[in-house]
Amino acid sequence: NKKELEEIIGKDSITIDGREVELVGNIGTPKDIAGLKKNDAEGVGLYRTEFIYMDRDSMPTEEEQFNSYKEVLESLNPKPVVIRTLDIGGDKKLPYLKIDEEMNPFLGYRAIRLCLDQKEIFKTQLRALLRASVYGNLKIMFPMISSLEELLEAKKVLDGVKSDLDKEGIKYADNIEVGMMIEVPSAAIISDVLAKHVDFFSIGTNDLIQYTTAVDRMNEKIHNLYNPFNPAVLRLIKMVIDNGHKENIWVGMCGEAAGDKRMIPILLGMGLDEFSMSASSILPARRIIRSLKLEDTKKIANEVLNMSTAEEIEKYIKNIIK
Ligand code: PEP
Ligand code: MG
Repeated sequence: NKKELEEIIGKDSITIDGREVELVGNIGTPKDIAGLKKNDAEGVGLYRTEFIYMDRDSMPTEEEQFNSYKEVLESLNPKPVVIRTLDIGGDKKLPYLKIDEEMNPFLGYRAIRLCLDQKEIFKTQLRALLRASVYGNLKIMFPMISSLEELLEAKKVLDGVKSDLDKEGIKYADNIEVGMMIEVPSAAIISDVLAKHVDFFSIGTNDLIQYTTAVDRMNEKIHNLYNPFNPAVLRLIKMVIDNGHKENIWVGMCGEAAGDKRMIPILLGMGLDEFSMSASSILPARRIIRSLKLEDTKKIANEVLNMSTAEEIEKYIKNIIK
C-alpha cells in the first residue's frame, strides 16, 4: 500500500477520463512544508496564519510575519500558496489581545470581523503579505466573510495598503488573486453575488457544517450530528461550486471534508477544482481520483443530491467505494 502511494508521486491528480484537479495542503507554520513536499502537494490551499500570532506574548511584527510568508512562498515557488488572513477568536485566543468574554464566541468577535474593527492589525498583516508576494505565487484569502459589505471593506483595506506601498516605492506582485472562504451559510447563499468580487472561493466545511446545522464542532456530546453528508451541507456546497463557475472563478475546499475519501467522489462530481487537506491525505486522495471517471462521479453527485438523509447518503457511498 505504501509502495502503491509512492508510485503516484510526481503523477497528475487526474481522473481516468481526463478531469484534472489540484491537490494541495493545509499548513500552520513554515515547518509543515517538509511534509507537503514529501507527499507531493501541488501547493498550499490553506496557510492558517493564526499560529504566527499564538504562543507568544505580543503581536508579531510586520517583519516577523514577512519572514514566515516569504519562507513558505519561496520554498514552494512557483506552486500556488493560499494564505488566509488572521482567523482569531472563537476557539483561538491570544493572551496579549483582550477580547471581552462572549456568550457565543463562535458567533462573535472573530476573524475578519476583528480585523475590520482593528485595522492596524489587519494592515500590518496585509503589508507583510504584499511584500512577501514577490517571492512566489501568493493568493490572499479572507476568513469568515458573511456579507458583501465585509468582503468589499476587506478588499478596500487591501487596496489602501497597496497604495501605501506604492507611495513608499515597495514592490509587490501584480497578479495576486484575492479570494474568500465560504464557511458561513449566509455567504454560501449569496455566493452568486460574492463570486463577482473575488478570484476564488475555498469552502471551509469545518465551520460551514457547524453553522448550517447549528452543531458545535467541538462538542463531543453531539458529534453524531456533525456530518459532512448532511444533505443541507451538500446542497450548499453544490450551490457554491455552481455559483463560482458561473462567474468563471475556481472553487476549492480546505475543510476536513476535502480529504475524506468518501467525499472525494461526490466533490469531484460536483465540479470542485481544488482539494486542500493535511499532508498525509494527499497521496491517498490522488489515488482515488486516478481510479475514478468524472462521468461516473457526476452521476454519484446527482444521486446523492436527491437523497434526504445523511444516513442514506453514507450507505450509498459506502457501497460505491466497495
Ligand atoms: C474551516 O472552517 O473549514 C476551515 C478550514 O477553517 P478552520 O478549520 O481553521 O476554522
Ligand atoms: Mg473556519
